[in-house]
Amino acid sequence: MARLDIQNLVKRYGDFHAVKDVSLSVADGEFVVLLGPSGCGKTTTLRMVAGFIEPTAGQVRLGDGDVTLLPPWRRNTGMVFQSYALFPHLTVAQNVAFGLEMRKVPKADMEKRVEEALALVRLSGYGARLPRQLSGGQQQRVALARALAIRPDVLLLDEPLSNLDAKLRQEVRVEIRELQRQLGLTTVMVTHDQEEALTMADRLVVMNEGTVHQVGSQRDLYERPADRFVAGFVGRTTFLAGTVESAGRFRTEGGLGLAVAGGTPGKAALSLRPERIEIAPAPLPGLDNDLPGTVEFVSYLGAQIDIHVRLSPADRLVVQVANRADGFSPEVGQQVHVGWRASAGQVFGE
Ligand code: ATP
Repeated sequence: MARLDIQNLVKRYGDFHAVKDVSLSVADGEFVVLLGPSGCGKTTTLRMVAGFIEPTAGQVRLGDGDVTLLPPWRRNTGMVFQSYALFPHLTVAQNVAFGLEMRKVPKADMEKRVEEALALVRLSGYGARLPRQLSGGQQQRVALARALAIRPDVLLLDEPLSNLDAKLRQEVRVEIRELQRQLGLTTVMVTHDQEEALTMADRLVVMNEGTVHQVGSQRDLYERPADRFVAGFVGRTTFLAGTVESAGRFRTEGGLGLAVAGGTPGKAALSLRPERIEIAPAPLPGLDNDLPGTVEFVSYLGAQIDIHVRLSPADRLVVQVANRADGFSPEVGQQVHVGWRASAGQVFGE
């Protein structure tokens, strides 16, 4: 295993910047997930690490070596593709052996390593089958075995679970994570699935439009988002548009005066997580903010209930409450009070 360092990586296609100056260090044995909306440059970054795309500028270092200009088979990276990319006319064992052949591993050693890799993904005995004789989940495991067979310094996973059905995806998530821990594999995974990212990662990298917005733990991203993009992308939030009038005072576009934590005067958005807002039939005197409103929409999600509350013609927010037998669960049209502490919101200047 090895540490991975990406330094000032850039990829341009003509005038278009797919990746703009991305730097990231992944520690030995760490599982890092690149998360971001479609087209943000995650896959391009991963492919530059694997060697399938040549960077316009910047460096990729694996362990102590600079691998930026090496072809994929000369750098010790194992990659699993979204489509699995198995060769349909080769058997499972031949598919798994592919990377070893490219690296000219002696035949006797090769058979042993193919067996080992198939055992790791619980497919011992499947070596003679063709990919089409396997289920989607099994094909995905063959692709993983192929990546593991070369004993990679770093494992690269490009949306590896997106072709699996929802239930299988949850199982395979756990399998991959356990295997990664057991082998101490330095791993980088790309996904746009937030839940997948949050469950699997040691650390997450949130990207948008070719740049890294924030690197951190699940808690960092959710509790202390670096900017408005991260606040909106990770978890759910309501943004109220308005102005910071003075430190601690915010006025919404709809004219509501709110207590906030800090803020620099000027146009801004106040981010409020739905589960941090309290809702009651009567005023909420103990909180920094207490506002009357009307319930406009209720969405029943089983364990939770989302309540959309109109505060002014221009301001509406979502409150999430746990579905408890003794909990307050208002109806559409009902007058309510919502409240929150100033510290529960976060202000992002424009
Ligand atoms: P997705 O989740 O949809 O796979 P992504 O974040 O992985 O998205 P990339 O595949 O890295 O996104 O693409 C980043 C941007 O670069 C996109 O806007 C894409 O259209 C563009 N791009 C990728 N490959 C090329 C290419 N060969 N020529 C021109 N533009 C490209």
